[in-house]
Amino acid sequence: MDLISFGNKYPFLQANLDFWGKYLTARDNVWGLLPSILDETVLEQSDFLAHLADGKPFLAYESIRIPQEGMEKLAEAFCTPFGLALPQTVFPEEIPLFEKLTVSPDETGFVIAELHSLIAAYIESVITSDEEEAINWLELDCPICGAGAAMGFLAPSGKKNLVCSHCQTVWVYPRINCGLCGHIEERGAIFYTAEEEPNWLVETCKECKSYLKVYDMRNALPDILTYPLHYLTSWNLDLTMRDKEFAPRFFHVFERAGWIKAKN
Ligand SMILES: [Zn+2]
Ligand SMILES: [Zn+2]
Repeated sequence: MDLISFGNKYPFLQANLDFWGKYLTARDNVWGLLPSILDETVLEQSDFLAHLADGKPFLAYESIRIPQEGMEKLAEAFCTPFGLALPQTVFPEEIPLFEKLTVSPDETGFVIAELHSLIAAYIESVITSDEEEAINWLELDCPICGAGAAMGFLAPSGKKNLVCSHCQTVWVYPRINCGLCGHIEERGAIFYTAEEEPNWLVETCKECKSYLKVYDMRNALPDILTYPLHYLTSWNLDLTMRDKEFAPRFFHVFERAGWIKAKN
């Protein structure tokens, strides 16, 4: 599905599609360059799967560096579709964990945070390329960058998967635990649904007072151009949840999108 047919299917998202079109192009640009810039031998030498049992995200124990020149190329590839100015420096040291990524809430912060997200996503694609299924990780934080989940889905196998709120890495997580805090509700979590969204359910948690939107892939495969945009298609669910005591979780890009000024 392309962005135009997507807009026809979800007309309430039309007004946002200018941003998402640029976002998808910017990401494709960077993704195309990363194989020639990131030293894959470092990634391949790191036995990611052997480290899974340690429960530490990849960027917590691996030192990944990108030379200044390569970083400039990535930044330019990302900035061009948005018409943004290039940041002065991006990551002069190693690529940090999500929690150590400090950016200012402005255009530069947007570029740096999104580049970080893409680098983490690319690392995931290289180190798990032999894996058929999503990473069997069983932790609350992303196995690559360490950020929390923004949404979930039930795979055709019935396993619950979480999607990282920052780099969009997908990992398998126990079905009965809250995907946001790990809590197990004694009588089972309460789920909400909306008639307009037959393939989505909302998993609520009394412990962290949050809700996780979960797409059920067992009946229909979703239109995923990118996970954050897929998340936005179930806006009806969020309306259903508005008067309840639970707070939503978001992809970080939603907030960051507001850091760039609209350009005509
Ligand atoms: Zn992540
Ligand atoms: Zn919870």
